[in-house]
Amino acid sequence: MSLPLFPKYGELIPELKLEIWRQASLSPGVHYFHVKTRIDNLGGHVRRIEITPSGQVDSDPSVWRVRANIANIDKHSSDVTKKLLEGPSAKELWRPKRGKNPSAVIDCDNDVVCIRFHGPIYNPLIGRFVDFDKLSGIKRVAVEYKKNWTHDVPSYRTLIDPMFHCLCVNLVHKVTCPKTVADFIQYFPDIEVFYFMVKLTSPNIKPPPPAPRGKKRNRQGVVKKEGDQQPEPAPAESRTRTKAAQVISETFTKLRDIAERNKLETFEDKVNTYCEAREADTTCLTMHDEIWEVFGELKDLWRLIKLIKTKVPSPYQLREPELKVLVYTELHKR
Ligand SMILES: [Zn+2]
Repeated sequence: MSLPLFPKYGELIPELKLEIWRQASLSPGVHYFHVKTRIDNLGGHVRRIEITPSGQVDSDPSVWRVRANIANIDKHSSDVTKKLLEGPSAKELWRPKRGKNPSAVIDCDNDVVCIRFHGPIYNPLIGRFVDFDKLSGIKRVAVEYKKNWTHDVPSYRTLIDPMFHCLCVNLVHKVTCPKTVADFIQYFPDIEVFYFMVKLTSPNIKPPPPAPRGKKRNRQGVVKKEGDQQPEPAPAESRTRTKAAQVISETFTKLRDIAERNKLETFEDKVNTYCEAREADTTCLTMHDEIWEVFGELKDLWRLIKLIKTKVPSPYQLREPELKVLVYTELHKR
């Protein structure tokens, strides 16, 4: 990023300059990382992991890249980002092997870390996992919810395993395997919140309910008002795109307003705005039932594990973070 952002920047009072950098540093923010597993040859369990950024500079919207860029612009930008990059809750998740590129530093207290996990998920506390320090400190962990997790057979067409590939023996789940989700959570010693993240796209949003009696929808699906002029019909393809964009925008605006009113969590990255959506508010999503069923089964599983633990002392501590849903889109806040 280069100075000046706008020509009058130099004339601003320091408080305004600081405010500009506070806004630009996107806190609380969202970061994306790949986590690749290395399997132990002896026991067949995950022994080590490798964390790498998800994508390159242009394709990765992670906030650590934005903050690293603005940190060196001037004294004010450096003052604001220092707290996020060097404060007690800062954690370096990745460092480039060579060159001058910045390290990936996150703010553990406030940021969300979205994990793209590659490899089978075993309970790391039962295997001989030795890399807990790499993931320690992270309090908010997210994964992108994918509908195809319900199918336990890997897709041979793409040769990509679903992230929560079920390893249970003689057990078929209706939804994503709760055991695998529980085991995934165990990789994060300090996890406080686990999120399923859903991008608002046309396939992820349920179609709107039928128009109220006596009212008609126009071609964009909007209920006509008295005296409305029928707009010029657009070409079919662009009409579909316009309608899709409108539905996404309306859905997100509604969820964001609810989040604001109820002081729910919101986050940002370079291109997206994220907001927490409660169970009562995610009914507009096509995967609503699936997601809350997985969460329900996960809580049942935790109850069962604790019940067993009272009879047989378990060698490990069970991590039970809060379970939440984050919806996001490229639309920006007001
Ligand atoms: Zn399973």
